[in-house]
This record gives sequence, structure tokens and C-alpha cells, in this order.
Amino acid sequence: IPVADAAPKTAPKTLPDAQTVTAVRHWTDSLFSFRVTRPASLRFRSGEFVMIGLLGDNGKPLLRAYSIASPNWDEELEFYSIKVPDGPLTSKLQHIQPGDEIILRPKPVGTLVLDALLPGKRLWFLATGTGIAPFASLMRDPETYERYEQVVMMHTCRTADELAYGRELVENLRHDPLLGEIYGEDFANRLVYYPTTTREESPRMGRITDNMTSGKVFADLGLPPISPETDRAMVCGSLAFNVDVKAVLEGFGLHEGANSEPREFVVEKAFVGDGV
Ligand code: FAD
Repeated sequence: IPVADAAPKTAPKTLPDAQTVTAVRHWTDSLFSFRVTRPASLRFRSGEFVMIGLLGDNGKPLLRAYSIASPNWDEELEFYSIKVPDGPLTSKLQHIQPGDEIILRPKPVGTLVLDALLPGKRLWFLATGTGIAPFASLMRDPETYERYEQVVMMHTCRTADELAYGRELVENLRHDPLLGEIYGEDFANRLVYYPTTTREESPRMGRITDNMTSGKVFADLGLPPISPETDRAMVCGSLAFNVDVKAVLEGFGLHEGANSEPREFVVEKAFVGDGV
């Protein structure tokens, strides 16, 4: 028998690096999450990002950076996305349905990884908007709780409905029976959630930087102020947010680290552009 005839006859994938969409959920007019099949060879560290996209009108791949929102143990990959009205990719990507294919380059990279931080007691996740995506991965990774006694998720959006994806994820995790079994009944206290809005009235308001410099978040949570001895932080938001938070963290005596030189905090852009 010729070798070619013996080869398994699988349907050819229509896109290079194609993965199949398995689920889509729309959270607001401008936010959605989706899940895709995971390439068997893809290994990543929770918090990293990959390039994903669709074929453009010119027949060439139209790719953008996306944080993987699922933890590294998950058999599928999850993403959390903005819908930019005239955005080259997201004006199309927002219409994907289960069964559709997307392009996913299996080369994960990024600085928001536990290896880029020194050991400590408390880990702060500081995000605006879709910047919560890498933390959706890290919050679901047991290694996070093995390395740190407590995780504080601060997430800020303009309106309360923009917080929904993160809120549901955190609430489910805090009351997850399996995590409760592994880490004890007080697991809910190990994952602290501090959402705020900046435009819409809500129980908690204000920018992350303001709530830190004023001491409000520490008073509200009954925690001591951030210190380089005990606290570590990861930051993901617009460029302006990242610059402001970095200055605040440095004011508390923390230093920025990297994969090659772990320190007390790390920063990554949630997108390129001005943002809010
Ligand atoms: P683009 O031409 O890429 O963007 C148009 C404009 O929209 C930008 O100039 C910017 O002002 C605004 N914009 C783009 N992305 C966002 C955003 N996420 N939130 C608010 N405003 C935005 N996007 C995600 O939705 N989820 C992610 O997990 C994610 N991870 C990223 C990780 C990295 C390291 C980087 C650099 C970017 C990431 N982005 C993420 C942004 C993403 O790469 C695209 O910019 C986004 O999907 C929009 O693509 P587009 O082609 O429709 O518009």
C-alpha cells in the first residue's frame, strides 16, 4: 500500500493554526468572552498572551495580542474581548459562533507570570477593563494560592455591568467546593474582590490609584498598606493606568521585575492605544 494511502484522512483545517470556537457569551454591548479548542502542543504559564485572529478581507491573517483568560490546566482556552466598533479584528470577531474557526498562534509570551515575582504574603491583581483577562487565568491557577496566602483582585470599569465577567468568575471561585476542600473553608477569605466603577454610581467607586493613595482600599478591607516586605502586584490596563499604578507602587517601595529578574511587581498593557 502506498504510504500516502495509509495516512489518516482527517478533514483539512481551513485556516493556518485553526482552532474551533466551542462557546461564546456576550456580557455587554462592548464585551464578550469565548472558548476555543486548545492545540495539543500548547503549553503556557497562566497570565501569558498569544496572537489570535481571523482571515482579513485580503486573505491574510489579521492577528491581535490576547491574554489567555483560562488557567494552564484547562483543556480549552478562554478569551475575554472588547468589541471596538470600527476595530479591524473585533468588528468581525464579535460575530463568532460555536463551530467557527479562529487563528491561534501557539507561541505564548508575557510578563504577568508568577515566576517574575519574588515570594511574598499577599498578591495584588490590579486591572481596568479587559485587563482582568490574565488574572482570570491566574486566579484559577492553584499555584497562585500555593505561592501567596492572599490574593486581592482590584478591578475598575466605567460602569457596573462591565464588571460582570470578573464578578461572576470571582464569586464562583470563592465558593468553589473543590477549592474549599483543598484550601479549607476560609478559601473565600484568601481571594478578596474589590471592584469599583468610575462613572456609574455603585457601592464602591473610584480609580485604583486613588483608592490606594488615599488608603481607602486598605481601610475597607482591613489590610495594612502595601509594603515591599509582604506585598507583590501585577498590573494590566491602559498605558496611562499602567504608568500611574507603577508610580503608586514605587511610592510604596516596590520595584518592577521581569522574567529574568523577579522583583515586587510586574506590568503589562491590556491594549495599545490611549484607552480610558
Ligand atoms: P485595534 O485597531 O487593535 O484597536 C483600536 C483601538 O481600540 C485602540 O487604539 C484602543 O484605543 C482601543 N482598544 C483596543 N483594545 C482595547 C481593549 N481591550 N480595551 C479597551 N480599548 C481597546 N484585548 C482584549 O479585548 N482582550 C485581551 O485579553 C487583550 N489582551 C491583550 C494583550 C496585549 C499584550 C496587548 C498588547 C493587547 C491586548 N488586547 C486585548 C488588545 C487587542 O490586541 C486588540 O487591540 C483588540 O482586540 C482590538 O482589536 P481591533 O483590531 O478590533 O482594534
